[in-house]
Amino acid sequence: MRAQPTASHFIDGEYVEDTEGTAFESLYPATGEVIARLHAATPAIVEKAIAAAKRAQPEWAALSPTARGRILRRAADIIRERNRELSELETLDTGKPIQETIVADPTSGADSFEFFGGVIAAGLNGNYIPLGGDFAYTKRVPLGVCVGIGAWNYPQQIACWKAAPALAAGNAMVFKPSENTPLGALKIAEILIEAGLPKGLFNVIQGDRTTGPLLVQHPDVAKVSLTGSVPTGRKVAAAAAGTLKHVTMELGGKSPLIVFDDADLDSAVGGAMLGNFYSTGQVCSNGTRVFVQRGIKQAFLSKLKARTENIVIGEPLDEATQMGPMVSFEQRQKVLSYIDKGKTEGATLVTGGGLPNHVTGEGYYIQPTVFADVTDDMTIAREEIFGPVMCVLDFDDEAEVISRANTTEFGLAAGVFTADLTRGHRVVDQLDAGTLWINTYNLCPVEIPFGGSKQSGFGRENSLAALEHYSELKTVYVGMGKVEAPY
Ligand code: NAD
Repeated sequence: MRAQPTASHFIDGEYVEDTEGTAFESLYPATGEVIARLHAATPAIVEKAIAAAKRAQPEWAALSPTARGRILRRAADIIRERNRELSELETLDTGKPIQETIVADPTSGADSFEFFGGVIAAGLNGNYIPLGGDFAYTKRVPLGVCVGIGAWNYPQQIACWKAAPALAAGNAMVFKPSENTPLGALKIAEILIEAGLPKGLFNVIQGDRTTGPLLVQHPDVAKVSLTGSVPTGRKVAAAAAGTLKHVTMELGGKSPLIVFDDADLDSAVGGAMLGNFYSTGQVCSNGTRVFVQRGIKQAFLSKLKARTENIVIGEPLDEATQMGPMVSFEQRQKVLSYIDKGKTEGATLVTGGGLPNHVTGEGYYIQPTVFADVTDDMTIAREEIFGPVMCVLDFDDEAEVISRANTTEFGLAAGVFTADLTRGHRVVDQLDAGTLWINTYNLCPVEIPFGGSKQSGFGRENSLAALEHYSELKTVYVGMGKVEAPY
């Protein structure tokens, strides 16, 4: 098997197996080939991982921020040195083309360790508050044992985006990758040990929706950070509330991307394609409702159709491939059923709509698909599809499009393409979303906060904001005089 890890779990600095756990297979989405056989965590494995994290955390938190940062920055260097090997593993795990993983997956994980390793050395400092003689100060302290739960679209990036700020702030983590993509996080755990991270601080255990609750409900866990769908988010938030844990929720979306008639058309088409077809459409912040001002509709659609039909679909490990398969057979079936709904509810199929005929074999390939004449009430305009299906909707004026763009339960992201910068700022100001772009789409460097509003979640990843979500304030009041008591 092409990607069999030493064992299923990584706990307390080493690989651990427990064959009592339910066996499952990891498949290469391009062929359906079994690339690894693993076991889900038993309750004993969950206990072992949490106990290791709990034991290791206080000593880690007591190190100087510079010492913690140095280890994280070393991990960033190792990830970059091994970018090719890690990217190939990510491609096998997810089916995403090597052309993408080599620039977007391990490297964005490395950015995260480098950024948080650097900023933590600069200090996660509190305040001094003068009180006229007496004074107070605040400090930010780690939460303790944090749990990270990942989705399958960016397995290594998600593991790093959670581990880096958590570890920088002095916490320990137990991470559970998605059962569809179990492999990458184990490599990140190995690399952290090689970089000098003390044992027990970053543990990886495998499992699915039955394993996650064991972590979320555990009394020794202080925080849960989930990347997943809205229904899962609701369950995890409810379970975490039972023990009043801190929670970060990175959930789904149905984000609007608005193209005004003065926009640079090629950039807008390119932005819409990146925001719908990258990672075979399996990106939470995708701008899947593309509102195009009526005057440029035909020009937009004809450029979009031509460029979409030129996308190179193929074997993901081939450098020339621009689009790989979907992650699983089930996910492709789900997307195909949405495409059928689009057709039956009356949207115009511009291109795609089925399986690519030049790709043979068992892979979970699907055509990049564009629907036009989509209306707000259609299922494909309301529900998250999580596949390469772009919905193009027409609009006439600014006020109308803002109101329609906001008519959704989601609020993850939004984008605007216009040559009028005043309008760009005015429009994003009125869009209900956590992450917004003007004249570009889906760029998420570690320096900027990323996260959603409304049903798309709360809390933020990346940037200094993430450190606040992995720490809490301690306030100390210092009395400088005698205590005056009335009794
Ligand atoms: P999912 O919700 O099915 O699963 C996410 C993770 O939660 C998996 O590891 C799963 O095993 C675990 N899980 C499921 N039920 C659980 C429970 N009751 N308790 C604890 N853990 C549980 O999501 P998915 O299909 O893996 O990923 C796709 C979804 O993730 C999409 O909705 C997408 O928008 C979202 N996503 C969001 C972001 C973001 O940053 N906002 C990023 C990537 C993906």
